[in-house]
Amino acid sequence: MRNPVPDLLDRLRRECADADGGEVLATIPELADADPDLFGVALCTIDGTVYGSGDDDHRFTIQSISKPFAYALALADRGRDTVLEHVGVEPSGDSFNEISLEQSGRPRNPMINIGAVTTHSLIGDPKLSLEERDARVLAGLSAFAGRELEVDEAAFESERAEASRNLALAYLVHAQGKLDGEPHDAVDGYTRQCALLVDARDLAVMAMTLAAGGRNPVTGEQVVPTWVCTQVLSVMATCGMYDASGQWMSTVGIPAKSGVAGGLLGALPGQVGIGAFSPRLDEIGNSVRGVRAFEHLSAELGLHLMHAPEVASHVLYGVVEPDADGDGVREVQLQGTMHFAAVDVALRELAALPDDEPIVLDLTRVASATVVGRSLLNEAVERMRADDREVRVTDPDGLLDAR
Ligand code: GLN
Repeated sequence: MRNPVPDLLDRLRRECADADGGEVLATIPELADADPDLFGVALCTIDGTVYGSGDDDHRFTIQSISKPFAYALALADRGRDTVLEHVGVEPSGDSFNEISLEQSGRPRNPMINIGAVTTHSLIGDPKLSLEERDARVLAGLSAFAGRELEVDEAAFESERAEASRNLALAYLVHAQGKLDGEPHDAVDGYTRQCALLVDARDLAVMAMTLAAGGRNPVTGEQVVPTWVCTQVLSVMATCGMYDASGQWMSTVGIPAKSGVAGGLLGALPGQVGIGAFSPRLDEIGNSVRGVRAFEHLSAELGLHLMHAPEVASHVLYGVVEPDADGDGVREVQLQGTMHFAAVDVALRELAALPDDEPIVLDLTRVASATVVGRSLLNEAVERMRADDREVRVTDPDGLLDAR
């Protein structure tokens, strides 16, 4: 059989290719020459399979898409409290290069420039030199991508020569006492971070690493702890698309981040990582075709985060009753994924059973269990046994402690 997914991706890309509005960014000289017709899309699955279509291996500078990954490194290196002291998590409603500070002097979030420059200076040990911090960023983002990334030196120099606005932002944060280090160093390092070269396939793998709780699905490396990814994806969901974040969340429903070179990355927790690239931008600074591709993908593949899955009601595969003479044992058979809502259905079924009769809890059809699901089921078995009920657990995959 020919796998239908690559064909679906090709068709979808063709359908979005007629969106030719928008303009290639003119403010960074090195980016202004990009071929406006380039268009690539890639998708990475939880097992590390990467599907690509069109110009999916064309390299471009990552720009603002580096921000969530730099934020992840800062969180992992300095801890949540320190990072939150310096940068907030509220959507700004402003464009990406605005002066967006809270009353306390803290930049509103790490996805806009003022917050990203501040975040960059929080990566690694406070005593790192500029070069050492650059090296940490390069190694960290490469680990997310699963290959050695490189800096586009020409793009870096070109943007560094035009960095007055980002420098102004950095000085402002410095004046508020919220910048760890020197403004020039922070902007230099941040600009270098933005000049890393990636393609749409890299973006898909980087996104899937975030969506898989920090484990790169291609290399198997645990790049950052899982709690970091929860934090990063939350901020991407509320702030990743600048002042279009609310509209994006309601129409596409995938935590995402865009960059001014035309890249766009989306991470759907536990499911899929998506990368897109097309240089023409809308007035907010998001890739026109990239946005269109995400709208189509989300609708066609049912990827909206807020689309409620129909699992909880199907938790009970069946209940085998003892026969009329009271022979045989009652068997409660569960199926699917044991997360809180699913286990709750099972717990109520168990709690309603007559107290004294023996039961079999059959987990043969259970696909997986969250930490909470597992601990609640363990507790249910313990409680039933404490009530002197005879409980047998059929658990071929060893999900529970209880046997
Ligand atoms: N390097 C760009 C800047 O700092 C990144 C902006 C972006 O991609 N939105 O202005």
